[in-house]
Amino acid sequence: MIAEQFDVFFFDLDGTIYLGDALLPEVRPSLERLRKMGKTIRFLTNDPRPSRSQIVERLRAFNLDVATEEVITSGWATVRYIQQQGYSSLFLLGSPNLRAEMLDALPGVSIDGEQCVEAVVVGYDDDVKLKDVNTAVQLIEKGATFIATNGDPSFPMPTGRSLATGSLVQAVQVATGRRPVVIGKPSPTIFRIAAEGLPSNARIVMIGDSPNADILGAHLMGYTAILVSQTPVRFPSKWDFRTPDATIPSLACLFEQGWAVREWKRPSFPWPERVEPGVAAIVFDHDGNVLLVKRRDNGLWGLPSGHVEVGETVEEAVRREVLEETGLVVRVERLVGVYSDPVSQVFQYPSGDIIHFITLSFLCTIAGGTLRANEEESVACGFFKPAELPQDMLPMHPSWLEDALADRRCAFIR
Ligand SMILES: [Mg+2]
Repeated sequence: MIAEQFDVFFFDLDGTIYLGDALLPEVRPSLERLRKMGKTIRFLTNDPRPSRSQIVERLRAFNLDVATEEVITSGWATVRYIQQQGYSSLFLLGSPNLRAEMLDALPGVSIDGEQCVEAVVVGYDDDVKLKDVNTAVQLIEKGATFIATNGDPSFPMPTGRSLATGSLVQAVQVATGRRPVVIGKPSPTIFRIAAEGLPSNARIVMIGDSPNADILGAHLMGYTAILVSQTPVRFPSKWDFRTPDATIPSLACLFEQGWAVREWKRPSFPWPERVEPGVAAIVFDHDGNVLLVKRRDNGLWGLPSGHVEVGETVEEAVRREVLEETGLVVRVERLVGVYSDPVSQVFQYPSGDIIHFITLSFLCTIAGGTLRANEEESVACGFFKPAELPQDMLPMHPSWLEDALADRRCAFIR
């Protein structure tokens, strides 16, 4: 049975342990049974408003025996993160409970600075004023680190959906153009803090009802993840990090024969936020040498390449990229390859963006211009013999060049 396969059980709260004011069926006997088996239990919630002791009170009202140390809220994880980073001055947008938890756990840290602070923490409270959101924006613009307790944009209420932390975070993000450090699920930060003090070889499983928060977060950590749902959830790609390793209708299934989990093996690429089209150019000179640029963003040599911008054809994008990066005007001859392998085509940028590129590679000929590096995009450019490529080259580009050389040989034979 599943319960025997793990040492540590991370549970989501809302939708997994309780729903609104009701404890979900089979939760109490399942938790008691795990405790009898000697299992370690943690409860992880993205709600940044209640303190840990308030969550404990709520769980005890359901007749569940829970210790404060077993509860990790996104607010508490943020407090731990601030401790670990050593910030001494903050501006907090958040609930009185989070404020009290911070004051208690972070003695000597000023949390109401409005002039100059090291970090701005955006959580949620019904009484947050737009004036305070604006102060957060201005402090971040002055250089404060932007920290979000969590990113959930809204939550369901009997009267309809209600605004949550993520909507405030996005307001600040849009106004500043800066991405926050997010602490709550699916960020690995809350999982790392929940795993503090556990043996490094502990077999950890995350159990929750949200593919986007619980399952994705667990998989980013390499943990097995079980979805609690009455219906299976499917994503189009078999590599989707949000696909659970098992789906169970209730926690009782953890102890029943016939339920099994597949072992999650984290793919070797980071989970991208989106897919974007890209282009690459293969340009030979009269001697059969290939045009390469040394990129400013990663310091590596590679084929001229980049994004397709809104409103552009792929041919226009290739011509523009080559001109921008090398100063050469090229004619686009033909498509020689389409590349989408996530292992080589998912890129993580310093801004935090993680993008999966589908790149179309085109054979081009020189039509004019003067070879020169562009200060903004490339530090150097030049022609190289295909058999003598630089060592520090983007790993997938030599094989793209091989494809173009093979294409040229085929074209010659034709
Ligand atoms: Mg939930």
